[in-house]
Amino acid sequence: MTTINWYPGHMAKATRELKEQLKQIQLVIEVLDARIPYSSQNPTVANLISHKPRLVLLNKKDLADPDHTNRWITYLNQHSGVHTIAINSLKRSDMRSIIAYCESQLLLSKRTYKRLNVMIVGIPNVGKSQLINQLSGKKSAKVANRPAVTQRQQWVMLSPTVYLLDTPGVLWPKFDSQDVGINLAITGAIKDHIFNREDVAFQLLHELVKDYPTLLKNRFKLTQLPEDQVELMRYIGKQRGCIERGGGVDLEKTYHVLLHEYRSGKLGTITLEKQPG
Ligand code: GDP
Repeated sequence: MTTINWYPGHMAKATRELKEQLKQIQLVIEVLDARIPYSSQNPTVANLISHKPRLVLLNKKDLADPDHTNRWITYLNQHSGVHTIAINSLKRSDMRSIIAYCESQLLLSKRTYKRLNVMIVGIPNVGKSQLINQLSGKKSAKVANRPAVTQRQQWVMLSPTVYLLDTPGVLWPKFDSQDVGINLAITGAIKDHIFNREDVAFQLLHELVKDYPTLLKNRFKLTQLPEDQVELMRYIGKQRGCIERGGGVDLEKTYHVLLHEYRSGKLGTITLEKQPG
């Protein structure tokens, strides 16, 4: 599991290390979670890498609502001017568009440099290690969820002209609003217990009722959704056999089950955060 350090001291050190690493980098690949593109972005990343060309990846697209993913791509391409690609890092074939983009950047640079050094950055659990492994064809995931590393650095050749730093830059999640924090908890980017799990589960339920009622009905075999969300939660608990000794619904267990089913994609492809405008 991920541990998150957002103590000022850790942040300062991680920032310093990242800045140091960035000296050798010509393109930064920023990984966001396609289900929460806004909440999974670290606000300081723009400052850190403002002088570098950047590629944004909306990862875990297999878990996100394809319509919203497309809208986010359009939005990000237009508003931030940063090229954006949606990917599923579990699929090797999705790596091609990334490498092709890197190669195109090298050509555009009129070969000011002979090879393009790229680095992956993102908040914990967004899929950085999975992406590095997939891009470099490694089998086993060596997951290192810790701030940028000072250990030996290795370059992995992605193509004859594109090299990837095999250590990702770990950015801390932002908590500039309760909504952002809860979104991060729903997707599993931060541990639930940082918030009250009840709040996290009910926020998810609220989003599902609002935007994905059909998925919810199908999944839990409901013809109609009850008005009252506590009643709905209890119903879901019963459906999943979350029953206490006395026969009542075990709500704690229900929250856990609902969140797990969302995170693993069992509820369907669901985007929690809609693009502005
Ligand atoms: P990191 O902390 O950013 O290095 O994240 P990891 O690479 O360890 O990934 C966190 C979890 O997300 C792991 O369980 C991965 O298997 C999973 N994951 C990463 N990318 C994807 C993706 O595109 N789709 C799905 N469904 N899961 C992914």
